Amino acid sequence: MNCLETTRLLNPYVDGELDLSAALAIEEHIQACARCRASFEGLQAARAAVSRECEFKTAPESLRLSLQAGIAGEGARGVASLLRSPLAVAAPGIAALLLAGWLALADVLNSGKPPAAVQARIVYHVTSSETAGAALRTLGNHLDAAPEVAVVVVAHNNGVDFLLRGARDESGGVYEATVKTLVRRGVEFRVCNNTLARRNIASSEVIPAATLVPSGVAEIGRLQSREGFIYLRL
Ligand SMILES: [Zn+2]
Repeated sequence: MNCLETTRLLNPYVDGELDLSAALAIEEHIQACARCRASFEGLQAARAAVSRECEFKTAPESLRLSLQAGIAGEGARGVASLLRSPLAVAAPGIAALLLAGWLALADVLNSGKPPAAVQARIVYHVTSSETAGAALRTLGNHLDAAPEVAVVVVAHNNGVDFLLRGARDESGGVYEATVKTLVRRGVEFRVCNNTLARRNIASSEVIPAATLVPSGVAEIGRLQSREGFIYLRL
């Protein structure tokens, strides 16, 4: 990935519209290239500013009333008529932002409580048995620092080894014990079944604390695109 391609794909990247391999190529490039990193950070800051502004300042009074009416008991009808309004036709993206912001605000008005903080979701990708021990230690530290974070670990290629029965870390400790501790703290471990098939490993070799998914890469793509997970490779 060069600067030209990165510049072209930066917008869809920030919108989370790229597939996994393209997103990884961009991430790699912006790690290494200060100029593209600066463009990326500028773009992110601009998006954040737009959504902040739209959330609480720009929505017209009529929109607020219409949404409140919809929420108060007219069911979906208020929201549906709103979506057919000229505003929505002219700028669907902004309309969606306004809608999200005002729905959140209406929730607060209705319940009298502040909105719950958005929970960070991270997918850890483990691809090598050499880094598994370090990945689990990092993960433990991560949870100490941010206990509310939701973490899914996806193991793929040689990264599945630490989730097999009897696997031991560099200092001879049993991985399964560490994994169980992390599962009790809410972490989920998922193993790529394509890797097991390719390496002729029986699924019964996988410790019960982990679950199988058909494809590790597809699972990571799904978590990122459908469930809003942030990707961390370890
Ligand atoms: Zn560049």
